[in-house]
Amino acid sequence: MNARNLDLRDPWVVSVHRLLHGSGEQVALTESLPAPEGLGSPVLGVPEEAPVDLRIRLESVSEGILASGTVSAELVGQCSRCLAYITDRVVSDIQELYFHPGRGAGDEEDLLIVDDHIDLTRPVRDAIIVDLPFSPLCREDCLGLCPSCGADLNDDPDHDHGQAIDPRWAKLAEGIDLAGGDPDN
Ligand SMILES: [Zn+2]
Ligand SMILES: [Zn+2]
Repeated sequence: MNARNLDLRDPWVVSVHRLLHGSGEQVALTESLPAPEGLGSPVLGVPEEAPVDLRIRLESVSEGILASGTVSAELVGQCSRCLAYITDRVVSDIQELYFHPGRGAGDEEDLLIVDDHIDLTRPVRDAIIVDLPFSPLCREDCLGLCPSCGADLNDDPDHDHGQAIDPRWAKLAEGIDLAGGDPDN
């Protein structure tokens, strides 16, 4: 088992001393913590330092501490079709077991209790990221941008660039253009 240190100044590192050494078997953790850096995807996420609301129950079980409940936060990002600024809210379920030192599978993925503390960052990050849409939209039927000029089609649904020329007629159109071209040519 590799030794791991937790930064006790990190607000996401929570003491479970009372659960491990006190009489109670569970505590409710209801607080807002500042979002860590990079909580989300490049197109949609929780801004750094924005509040993440936790409603988590910590329970003492034989293997360690079971953390379960929900996490929620406001999201900001960009519509994947029209690139408009969008806001949304994510509410994610979380259920993770933090092992007593020496328990668990003994690999890197184990969440451990270290010096009577647990670090909530990774499970909260994982729970939120899984629930983010891969292609966020400003609305379900967003029309996106014109592929020719980039105009926002939501503002101008009838936008077009005239009849597209059928490739079979393109040669003919060229011929007409040549015939009517510059007389000096
Ligand atoms: Zn859009
Ligand atoms: Zn256009």
